Amino acid sequence: MLINEIFYSLQGEGPWVGLPSIFIRLGGCVEPLCPWCDTKYALDEYTDMACSDIIKQVRTLSCTNIVITGGEPFLQWESGLTELHDKLLELGYHLQYETSGKVPVPDLKDATIVCSPKYIEGMWIFDPTNLSNIDIFKFVAQEETFDDIIEFITKNQIEKKRVYIMPIGATREEQLKNMESVFNFCKDQGYRMTPRLHTLTFNGKRGV
Ligand code: SF4
Repeated sequence: MLINEIFYSLQGEGPWVGLPSIFIRLGGCVEPLCPWCDTKYALDEYTDMACSDIIKQVRTLSCTNIVITGGEPFLQWESGLTELHDKLLELGYHLQYETSGKVPVPDLKDATIVCSPKYIEGMWIFDPTNLSNIDIFKFVAQEETFDDIIEFITKNQIEKKRVYIMPIGATREEQLKNMESVFNFCKDQGYRMTPRLHTLTFNGKRGV
């Protein structure tokens, strides 16, 4: 499998916000790429690792929560990720996936799938056949995108309890600039807000 990095930290955003977690970041993504991508380093920096070596490295870290992220992790579902998924569950880990929903998302009852749909050049890049396989939708937001987010949620009939809204910002300054409008948007619409704790705390530093 193509692995960009494996590290231990706190999950900074979404339904596991603040939870100690091991991150397995898979390399590679699909076009169109997001202009604001904050993990560009994952697109073409990776090492080919055997499932057994990934597990060996994970087991050196004392934590039972694992976030499998990217890049786009489900690109590798048929090329090693299924095996890794099954082995990690057998070992008793709790799994969360972070996906863009640009590629097919498997139907997993034994993991939490968090999708952050991407709005690029005036359109949502999202495969609607993935809708029922996704547990949580996490939108990266700023004032200019509020109407588009509401349109996506309404069109796809997504219940409010499955929605998290996160201020856009790969740096602390950018995130803080967008927080007040996102806060008020969430209050008005009844959506849950999530910060990006790692960015607020470490200001864009990698691997924290
Ligand atoms: S889907 Fe994620 S990894 Fe891929 S380009 Fe967009 S932000 Fe970057």
